[in-house]
Amino acid sequence: MTADRPYGEVTEAFVDALRAAVGAEHVRLDEEARVSYGADMLKKGHPADVVVWPATTDEVAAVLRACSAHRVPVVPRGAGTGYTGGAVPSLGGVVLALSRMNRILEVDEQNLLAVAEPHVITGDLQKAVEAVGLFYPPDPASLSTSTIGGNVAECAGGPRAFKYGVTKRYVLGLEAVLPSGEIIHTGGKSVKNVVGYDLTQLLVGSEGTLAVITKIIVRLVPLPPHQVTLRATFATIQGAVDAVTNLIRARVVPSALELIDGDSLDAVATNLGTRALAPEGTGAVLLLEVDGLEATVQEEGRRVAQACRDAGATEVLVAEDAVTRQELWHVRRSLSLSLKVLAPLKINHDVVVPKGRIPELFALVERLRAASPGVRIPCFGHVGDGNIHVNMMLDPSDAVAMAAARAAERELFAGVVALEGSISGEHGIGFSKMPFVPLELSRVEIDLQRRVKAAFDPLNILNPGKMFPDAGNLKFEI
Ligand SMILES: Cc1cc2nc3c(=O)[nH]c(=O)nc-3n(C[C@H](O)[C@H](O)[C@H](O)COP(=O)(O)OP(=O)(O)OC[C@H]3O[C@@H](n4cnc5c(N)ncnc54)[C@H](O)[C@@H]3O)c2cc1C
Repeated sequence: MTADRPYGEVTEAFVDALRAAVGAEHVRLDEEARVSYGADMLKKGHPADVVVWPATTDEVAAVLRACSAHRVPVVPRGAGTGYTGGAVPSLGGVVLALSRMNRILEVDEQNLLAVAEPHVITGDLQKAVEAVGLFYPPDPASLSTSTIGGNVAECAGGPRAFKYGVTKRYVLGLEAVLPSGEIIHTGGKSVKNVVGYDLTQLLVGSEGTLAVITKIIVRLVPLPPHQVTLRATFATIQGAVDAVTNLIRARVVPSALELIDGDSLDAVATNLGTRALAPEGTGAVLLLEVDGLEATVQEEGRRVAQACRDAGATEVLVAEDAVTRQELWHVRRSLSLSLKVLAPLKINHDVVVPKGRIPELFALVERLRAASPGVRIPCFGHVGDGNIHVNMMLDPSDAVAMAAARAAERELFAGVVALEGSISGEHGIGFSKMPFVPLELSRVEIDLQRRVKAAFDPLNILNPGKMFPDAGNLKFEI
């Protein structure tokens, strides 16, 4: 341990302690494992020193006790689909891969809840509860690969958040292991609980920096019996934004309300070879869903279509059959990965503003486009929440474009804060957004959060080098 690296080395004695904790066959030090667990979808990072796969809460606790005793950093990891480097071992150390903890333990139809281990894939949890007529609404576009533990740790959102809210609204209770190895339970199976501070909500969105989540109790709601998906095309972004304003004025709350701009539509069409979302030359698309009882869905669907036509929609398609609906949503979920056809590097930001300020956010993006040579800025996202994915696409070997993108992202973040918004609506801070946190939080607020971190993790071994603007000496350039 030294002043610039206040951590212990990964010694043979430490690795033996890990082997004793999880079994020798579940500890890997080979390069393939170390490298593949060294990055997430941000595609930037540093190899782990060692990767371990615990199977139970007690094994997680034993790993954390060993890390505490030897002062070695440890990073919890779900599916590694995060976009901000959250699961990356920024300071080296252990990656705690939770993939063996993947069971749905209970679907309780009486109490409208489910209990799951952290590595249950979110889409699998949804299918399991839908099989008995229940519904787990949070639907990140990554739902076929990301885990419920990762979703809780990031407080994931998705298209349905407009009507149903994001992950935090569905977490009733957690089992978690502190960095010391102590096991805690927060919240529980009852829907009301006001004893003490709300540690459940503190852990939701804590990005694996406070505790390792080992069990999750989620609230369920009845599965809406009927759904209709509508696709409205517009000549311009402004038309789509006007339609959103009309909808809000008409007091309709669709279960999903997504906006996709022309650049994103072209990218997904090229990547998937389908124009299912819009014909060539479309400026913007709104993808909407209404759900509920059939009569309500019919009436709301009519109002949504009218709101879009009043805003100048060039076409409104109403899809009631499951195949067309699934095709539309499949294409929507493929947007993020499809942008790669535009340029090799994506700098992906999930900024959010109050709904009423969406036109100002798009005006800001338009200014950034004009001022950023060599950078394309396709946008799409959860417009009902004011949460827009602003993607800066460029060739990283183009120094002018790179400098323009870096200037544009700072201006974007400063702009959304000035619009009373936030620099991240769902992807979190990880390490990639650390430098921008002071644009949004004051020194007092950051210090308070740092004291919360120290209360959970006095040795700063759990996912260090994340969230805080001066989080330590990372092993790579941000
Ligand atoms: C194509 C694509 C689409 C996406 N769409 C969305 C979207 O619509 N909405 C959205 O919100 N996000 C989206 N994401 C981002 C990502 O999927 C989410 O952040 C997701 O919640 C991460 O889950 P994961 O299992 O991959 O977690 P990881 O990436 O493995 O980890 C994410 C963070 O959670 C921590 N963590 C993981 N498991 C635990 C645990 N058990 N205990 C404590 N900490 C833990 C990690 O340390 C890390 O900080 C998308 C990503 C991709 C690639």
